[in-house]
Amino acid sequence: MTKDEVLEQARALHVDVVRLQFTDILGIVKNVDIPVKSLGMALDGRMMFDGSSIEGFVRIEESDMYLLPDPSTFAVLPGRAQAGVTARLMCDIVNPDGSPFAGCPRSALKRVLAEARDLGFSITVAPEPEFFLFEGTEARTTDEAGYFDLSPSDLGEDARRDIVLAMESMGYAIEATHHEVSPGQHEIDFPYTDPLYCADTLMTFRVVARLVARQHGFHATFMPKPLAGVNGSGLHLHQRLMSDQGNVFYDAKQPNGVSRTALRYISGLMAHARAFTAITNPLINSYKRLVPGYEAPVYIAWSMGNRSPMVRVPRGRGMETAIEVRSPDPSCNPYLGLAATIKSGLDGLKHRYELSAPISRNIYRMNDAERRELGIERLPEDLEEALDALEGDRVVWDALGDHIAQRFIEAKRLEWDVYRHEVHQWELDQYLRMY
Ligand code: GLU
Ligand code: MG
Ligand code: MG
Repeated sequence: MTKDEVLEQARALHVDVVRLQFTDILGIVKNVDIPVKSLGMALDGRMMFDGSSIEGFVRIEESDMYLLPDPSTFAVLPGRAQAGVTARLMCDIVNPDGSPFAGCPRSALKRVLAEARDLGFSITVAPEPEFFLFEGTEARTTDEAGYFDLSPSDLGEDARRDIVLAMESMGYAIEATHHEVSPGQHEIDFPYTDPLYCADTLMTFRVVARLVARQHGFHATFMPKPLAGVNGSGLHLHQRLMSDQGNVFYDAKQPNGVSRTALRYISGLMAHARAFTAITNPLINSYKRLVPGYEAPVYIAWSMGNRSPMVRVPRGRGMETAIEVRSPDPSCNPYLGLAATIKSGLDGLKHRYELSAPISRNIYRMNDAERRELGIERLPEDLEEALDALEGDRVVWDALGDHIAQRFIEAKRLEWDVYRHEVHQWELDQYLRMY
């Protein structure tokens, strides 16, 4: 859509308010509402906002930033008509001179996609966000359904259906949806699209899911591991690499139909996994999901089918050949998560990292010696270890750029420190009486 088409649509749909949305470094959606009469001005990139008020953005002395809406993201938000019609636009953050702001995650992803284009590739991705629907505000559910179960055990089924309908009303296609393994846990799968569109979709989805869930008396959470003892929530990212020859992950002449390019891409993902984990698994809680036994990866390995490694090559071949990155979780900033993983994969095309053989056994069941023999390293065990890895990895660092990388690390080290100073209930239960 062009600027004029957006203005025309806004008129035709009787839009009253437009939300200019952007994403901060930590992946939280931010919003400036404008009356529809300011829409023309906003589309020209003349909406100023005080960047200093946004976590991780700028210091006070350089706080004037502008929002530059992407007209193709125009969509009417689902909601009650009597409250007026509200539309939204996803925005890039630009400097007063119109150049992309170094702290804008959306622009960081665009930079990585431009690099892929320079190498002659385009990338499409399909995300599988998982989430919980809890009753009230506690991490509580009386749902007893499991994988692919149906009502009446699935209390969240109506809510999940309305989340899908709300997304579809905004023009988003949904591939599939189902109940996941844990009680109260659900998954909604999106089709392959351009990565920028994918990240915009995930940002939209997190907001819409929470909104619609609330109308059903649920709280939707994308926290990676809200309940101990059951599966947490992942955000598997399926990736395909295309050139003008078609899907370059496929090669009919290779065993299993998986091309050398695909293997190199996987080698790049594995070489940089410890560093991009800080981005794809950004919460202290993220690391409580990455433990053995819950279908989440713990080790840096790849497989053709087995679900315990970090990377899997799902069954489809030909145009459908894809690489599934299974470690990310839905609390990550999707722009940065995609930028970091794609940049890592592309780096594998340029450098010849050694790639270990695919693992067909369940890695959780191997002992340390067996894993050592196969050269299988593990993902970081906590946020601090991941941040250290990020600091030491030029490739992932460059996917973010200095500005975002520095501020991300600063904010996350602070989070880690606050956590470290806290005394948790588990420690009291464990030690108070015994010592
Ligand atoms: N919930 C699992 C995770 O934490 C993934 C389950 C699946 O394979 O869909 O990644
Ligand atoms: Mg799943
Ligand atoms: Mg999956």
